[in-house]
Amino acid sequence: AAIYGNGRVNSRGLDLSNEAQLLQLQDALNQEAQKTHHIASITAEEVAHHPAHPVLNPANHHEVIGEVSFIKVEAVADVIQDAIQAQFVWQGKSVAERSKVLRATADLLEANQNVLLYLAIKEAGKTLTNAVGEIREAVDFCRYYAQQTEEFLPQHAKSRGVMVAISPWNFPLAIFVGQVVAALAAGNVVIAKPAEQTSLIAHAAVTLMLAAGVPDGAVQLVLGEGDVGAALTADERVEGVLFTGSTEVAQLINRGLAKREDMPLLLAETGGQNAMIVDSTALPEQVVQDVLLSAFDSAGQRCSALRVLCLQDDIADRVITMLKGGLKELRIGNPAQLNVDIGPVIDEEAQQRLLAYIDSKRSVATQVTQWSIAPELAAQGTFVPPTILELKHLGDLSQEVFGPVLHVVRFKAHQLDQLIDQINQQNYALTHGIHSRIDGQIEYIASRIEAGNVYVNRNIVGAVVGVQPFGGHHQSGTGPKAGGPFYLQRLSLTNPWRLPE
Ligand code: GLU
Repeated sequence: AAIYGNGRVNSRGLDLSNEAQLLQLQDALNQEAQKTHHIASITAEEVAHHPAHPVLNPANHHEVIGEVSFIKVEAVADVIQDAIQAQFVWQGKSVAERSKVLRATADLLEANQNVLLYLAIKEAGKTLTNAVGEIREAVDFCRYYAQQTEEFLPQHAKSRGVMVAISPWNFPLAIFVGQVVAALAAGNVVIAKPAEQTSLIAHAAVTLMLAAGVPDGAVQLVLGEGDVGAALTADERVEGVLFTGSTEVAQLINRGLAKREDMPLLLAETGGQNAMIVDSTALPEQVVQDVLLSAFDSAGQRCSALRVLCLQDDIADRVITMLKGGLKELRIGNPAQLNVDIGPVIDEEAQQRLLAYIDSKRSVATQVTQWSIAPELAAQGTFVPPTILELKHLGDLSQEVFGPVLHVVRFKAHQLDQLIDQINQQNYALTHGIHSRIDGQIEYIASRIEAGNVYVNRNIVGAVVGVQPFGGHHQSGTGPKAGGPFYLQRLSLTNPWRLPE
């Protein structure tokens, strides 16, 4: 296994090629389905909740996974008060004690992987591979930030105070846990408000954090919709907000924070109009494999996902033909079947928005290639057919589309600069891919393109904690990058005693 500094090793997850292990897992998941998941917020003291509502599987709306009660927005003020009380306890612990709790959290996440896999699959519609990736990344965040505090934070570093963590449904475990443990590692207390669509798995994660030794009140989970997040971020006792989600919501939070007298911290990771430039020296077989994964894995519901494939015209026909063939090979279905490649999108609103978007582009697209979805499947869940839209120019693009939709444009060698300008003018800067065999060309594109993470001759998703710090700028976020050496410093008020290498 690769070792990343001071003996820290990233998690290995499950060996999905081991049949015996898979059968065991299938049994374990079936057992999880027998259990009841009836949950409410986890707060230091009991607070008022609305009546419970059912949580449905996005791949099969007839399947009820559990019940969730949302918090009443009036209760938020008390939750913040309790967090302030807990701050004395948590901040008073030594760096070693806090790291121990984070590592214990990682161990408990691994030990309880079955319920977490079950919820990632059933509540968020994740495929097994993606669900395994969720747990690995969550575990890696815990151990990475634990190590970072030990190496770089002085013993008595001053923390900021109460942090609010608002996390998305697309990485309901990895990003949720990443935000919370980063804030905790730097000695802050956290009020976590996960996306309402993925409350169950967030609840399971916080339960494990408390079992691992996080003191009562130092992490509180508030379940609810946008009004709850708004009430939290408006409160002047909240010192900072960690947000991952859409650019629009980040802008809304930013405007809200700007109305406050104080100037709280905002760390935002948002979307991208991520492109890949493929020149005529690229290897088509590799390009196709990397494009399919980047654009359609997780049903395209990653901020890092590929949205715009730019093909040099000499190679374009060949790559497009192979892409279409590859697209048809993908298995779309209910991820309860463990070999499915692409599951549903998160909910009906997302499905309708995506289908309407695809329809709206039919007249401008020069070609539309679409996988078809079996009617039985379509009747059960919120599936969107993976779609390739060929466009004449980048000018035909609109906003980021968060789903299994890939745009393709062609360019001629002499238009490279213009292409880079047009990509940069989208004003996002998250991920970017380059496929080329010419070193000079790779260096040139990488130096001119605006993106937080540039990937060369590979796919552009799945940044690895501690190895590929992840995040962007412009409309894609504020930085610093998650899973990188500068993240915790923004969450602490004391400068590190030495700089990370
Ligand atoms: N870190 C993820 C990746 O590299 C993306 C995170 C997101 O979608 O917010 O694929």
